[in-house]
Amino acid sequence: MALARGYAATDASKPLQPFTFERRAPNDDDIVIDIKFSGICHSDIHQVRNEWGNSIYPMVPGHEIVGIVSAVGKNVTKFKPGDKAGVGCFVNSCTACASRDLDREQYMPGLVPTYNGYEADGKTPTYGGYSDSIVVKEDYALSIPDNLDFAATAPLLCAGITLYSPLKHWQAGPGKKVAVVGMGGLGHMGVKLGAALGAEVTVLSQSLSKKEDGLKLGATHYYATKDPETFKALAGSFDLILCTVSAEIDWNAYLSLLKPDGAMVLLGIPENPVPVHAFGLVGGRRSLAGSMIGSIKETQEMLDFCGEHNIVSEIEMIRMDQVNEAYERVLKSDVRYRFVIDTATI
Ligand code: NAP
Ligand code: ZN
Repeated sequence: MALARGYAATDASKPLQPFTFERRAPNDDDIVIDIKFSGICHSDIHQVRNEWGNSIYPMVPGHEIVGIVSAVGKNVTKFKPGDKAGVGCFVNSCTACASRDLDREQYMPGLVPTYNGYEADGKTPTYGGYSDSIVVKEDYALSIPDNLDFAATAPLLCAGITLYSPLKHWQAGPGKKVAVVGMGGLGHMGVKLGAALGAEVTVLSQSLSKKEDGLKLGATHYYATKDPETFKALAGSFDLILCTVSAEIDWNAYLSLLKPDGAMVLLGIPENPVPVHAFGLVGGRRSLAGSMIGSIKETQEMLDFCGEHNIVSEIEMIRMDQVNEAYERVLKSDVRYRFVIDTATI
């Protein structure tokens, strides 16, 4: 066991504070990573504040982790000390049950989240990336392309794969019209990745304040959803709508923007349910679906794709002690476009 330093939430109403804890002892198939950078995902805020009702405290959040491998177990083949490595939203999954499926293991039972969960033994808590080190099975660690800015790759581990996976699954590409709702941490990655895959991307943001950025990142069109004219102008326009909004919005209004056979995919996970009218779906054979991160295999594919296309996140680097202030800014949509913690400041 080794001591790690980080920041933790001790209950739903308190700010994050410094926290020292023990990392589990590495096994033969584990690697130890010196964490260098850790992204702040809106899911961290939902969980710190127990908005999904499943929080375990103390909680060290963080599932957009990149760092340098400092030690490897004797059975490790993929990494050596000194390599760059990343860790995303889960650190283990079921490897025995009948429904094991390595191309979509994120949907199988037995998934071990990077934090706010327990290791496969059911009792060792998992702690995330707002810390200086992590121990992880090599099969759940990702290789980071060397040509990419290191800090700006951290958000690819959640925001990147969460957009890449539905873009691929719903076959976004040339000739497809894709709308990204919400130009935040997830949304701006949707713009970059959708454009790189060849789709025509439209951003649907609350206002036009980030329009210039959206067009620069690869969007062809940019509309403000607070303007009711937007919903008239774009009725029946899109093959695919990726909704990254973290709050309750009128999904019926967005469903009306789909072409026949179009799909709206929920990525944002608001606290409360949102009612949907059946007519919005049946009158056009439209689908309302959801999607959660991606498998390890698909995450590596996404990272390699980003390496080839030189895609990283737009980031604002912060010190560890600025994390509580950063949370408030995320809640106000005041982030361009992902906060990344420099863990050297812990
Ligand atoms: P974020 O950076 O806060 O972005 C969310 C964006 O939604 C904001 O930038 C804002 O964009 C828009 N928005 C916020 N409140 C709104 C409101 N009341 N009405 C309309 N639009 C609003 O958050 P994120 O890190 O991208 O995460 C977004 C959501 O995805 C969270 O719920 C998170 O838990 C979830 N998530 C899901 C997965 C998954 O696997 N499905 C993975 C990661 C995160 P504009 O300013 O452009 O309007
Ligand atoms: Zn996340």
